[in-house]
Amino acid sequence: MARATVLGRLTWRVATVAAVRDETQNARTIVLDLPDWPGHLAGQHVDVRLTAPDGYSTERSYSIASAPEGNRLELTVDLLPDGEVSPYLARVLSAGDPLEIRGPIGGWFVWRPERPEPVQLIAGGSGVVPLMAMIRTREAGGARAPFRLLYSTRGPEAAFYRDELRRSSENGSGLSVTYAYTREVPQDWERPPGRVDAGLLAQAAWAPEREPISFVCGPTGFVENVADLLVSAGHDPARIRTERFGPSGGQP
Ligand SMILES: Cc1cc2nc3c(=O)[nH]c(=O)nc-3n(C[C@H](O)[C@H](O)[C@H](O)COP(=O)(O)OP(=O)(O)OC[C@H]3O[C@@H](n4cnc5c(N)ncnc54)[C@H](O)[C@@H]3O)c2cc1C
Repeated sequence: MARATVLGRLTWRVATVAAVRDETQNARTIVLDLPDWPGHLAGQHVDVRLTAPDGYSTERSYSIASAPEGNRLELTVDLLPDGEVSPYLARVLSAGDPLEIRGPIGGWFVWRPERPEPVQLIAGGSGVVPLMAMIRTREAGGARAPFRLLYSTRGPEAAFYRDELRRSSENGSGLSVTYAYTREVPQDWERPPGRVDAGLLAQAAWAPEREPISFVCGPTGFVENVADLLVSAGHDPARIRTERFGPSGGQP
């Protein structure tokens, strides 16, 4: 049984793009239909494989943005202008197209809705994607663990899922969201543009005494810096889970 599950995850499947929608000027959510999707946990990712007409193929990893929901899956891809794969996914792919994927992958950077402890989510840029799957899973299942999201992004226009995050943080369900803008801030914003630092963490994140579980995701430098700040603030390293988004190569 276990062997069959492992083989299933490593098998490439052909998904069909059901819809695409713009998340920001540079990022797009891709909705996929997968007839035999085995289901996933919040925080897991898939591999996507693109193959050119001449047979050249390359793979990249993308976090699952959606809560588990039957045969449907959502990814959100941020365009890297000089990238090999993301421009195709974020600009060219459209409804009706096939897309090869395999997964779900990952068993450490996952949140299970039965966990009761407070959760601290910290995202840099597109690192918010797997954290959004956790927020959506919590909401879909009516879980009660209190969640805080600290979301570092270049500016308000670059933030993913803005309207949904606002609604979820205003519906009294126990999610709070704090933005850290690194380049452009809205008018009358209380903080100048800047990176997540110890002061902001002390203000926006759960205190270590609450013994939260922390999920930190984003570019490698961001993740390392935030994880160091959490440890310096007294958080138990064993309760900090990290996922680094890049840069990734293609096939060796
Ligand atoms: C587990 C995992 C989950 C991921 N989930 C997502 C996701 O949900 N959404 C998403 O948009 N991306 C995600 N990524 C990143 C994604 O896999 C690709 O690295 C990214 O889309 C760039 O691919 P590319 O082929 O366009 O660029 P490449 O051709 O690989 O690289 C182009 C240039 O960009 C640099 N670069 C590559 N990746 C990054 C990066 N992430 N940040 C900054 N610079 C980079 C490279 O050094 C190079 O200079 C994830 C990565 C991992 C490991």
